[in-house]
Amino acid sequence: MEKDKIKQLTDNSPLLQKAAAGQETVWVNPDKTEFRKAMENSELTLKDVDDAEARLARFAPFIMKCFPETRDKKGLIESALTPIPNMQKRLNEKYMAQLPGKLLLKQDSHLAIAGSIKARGGIYEVLKYTEDLALEHGLITLEDSYEKLVEPACRDFFSKYTIQVGSTGNLGMSIGIMSAAVGYQVIVHMSADAKEWKKELLRSHGVKVVEYESDYSIAVENGRKLSDADPMSYFVDDENSRNLFLGYAVAAKRLVCQLKDLGITVDADHPLFTYIPCGVGGAPGGVTFGLKQMFKDSVHCFFIEPVQAPCMMVGMATGLNNEISVQDIGLSGLTHADGLAVGRPSGFVGGVMKEFLSGEFTVKDGKIYDYMRDLLETENIFLEPSACAAFQGPAHINKAPETLQYLTNQTLTDKMDNATHIAWATGGSLVPPEIREEYKKTYL
Ligand SMILES: *Cc1c(COP(=O)(O)O)cnc(C)c1O
Repeated sequence: MEKDKIKQLTDNSPLLQKAAAGQETVWVNPDKTEFRKAMENSELTLKDVDDAEARLARFAPFIMKCFPETRDKKGLIESALTPIPNMQKRLNEKYMAQLPGKLLLKQDSHLAIAGSIKARGGIYEVLKYTEDLALEHGLITLEDSYEKLVEPACRDFFSKYTIQVGSTGNLGMSIGIMSAAVGYQVIVHMSADAKEWKKELLRSHGVKVVEYESDYSIAVENGRKLSDADPMSYFVDDENSRNLFLGYAVAAKRLVCQLKDLGITVDADHPLFTYIPCGVGGAPGGVTFGLKQMFKDSVHCFFIEPVQAPCMMVGMATGLNNEISVQDIGLSGLTHADGLAVGRPSGFVGGVMKEFLSGEFTVKDGKIYDYMRDLLETENIFLEPSACAAFQGPAHINKAPETLQYLTNQTLTDKMDNATHIAWATGGSLVPPEIREEYKKTYL
């Protein structure tokens, strides 16, 4: 972007000035509106989410066959939702969060196969492509059990195709492992932020890893170029994919039952708050879209980003979406939270979220590690640093002047005792023990 335009933007925005200075910020979205109105401008609907849910159900027998660890959930890849009262107490005592109500953890960190939220979108996208190909070439019909797809003839067929994706790590693991299971050739283009152990794990699944010394956007751009040049190659486009987005959205439909099982009501008098770490935007955007379909105006959704890479906040607050990067306002884009190390947001997600998202919190890297140790000490649950960013939400929602004003405007102040807060744990169960030990000592 041109320097003049950026100067003009920042001069007029205390929020951007604070963000540009690398400080923690709280942004409340002025464009958020009633669910009913927001849906009028939405290119996606509940029907799209239902369709994705049905497709995952069709693939359940296949998933169960390829990944026996999913057998107890009958081939559904789903995670637990658990109360974390000791962490809530820690947030209140150590960070003066003043958070009433109930704090829950959605443990996508422990999703089967990929150990992160990417097990939703990434795997769904591979399966969607697989179903399209298989139906088109007569390998299956919609009525068949998709178990058939593990047969050698099918695998031979899929081995002629290549799947490519750009990734900071976790998306590559999800797409890579699932694609290899179907039988595809896979190439993952990894940015400089990607951790070495993630690359090694992928190679052990027979995935070709291409490494870049640049950031995520460059890895994506190059991956897309190489894939486009090969007619037998399919590129998973994290920045624009509706499929990825809808795979994430299915989480919300399943959350309805999980809340019911916990005896938790969500309605106008019992608001639900969600806090999801954000990179390019697909995962938190998709989950948020699904949650809005299920709970409409009773759910209040917030994203969390690192102070050096708040790409979605900068894109949405300026209205420029993917036409502005964090580097444009003088930030580095560098963070220990590798899953969130994205300098330019998805324009597609920014557009869809415009009237749904309640706001954003940004968090310093050091704080992320503190939350990680806090959760480990109080609840004995390990999450990777990116996922721990989520706790910045519950730590500030009932304390920051910006969100206190939001609660007043939404007439929520006197309902906070009845509120449920979900910190969305986006990854961590695949982190090797020696890396966990390193993390525990970081930023001490
Ligand atoms: C990818 C990722 C996110 C964010 O998802 P985006 O689709 O990039 O916004 C958050 N946490 C973890 C651990 C991730 O891997």
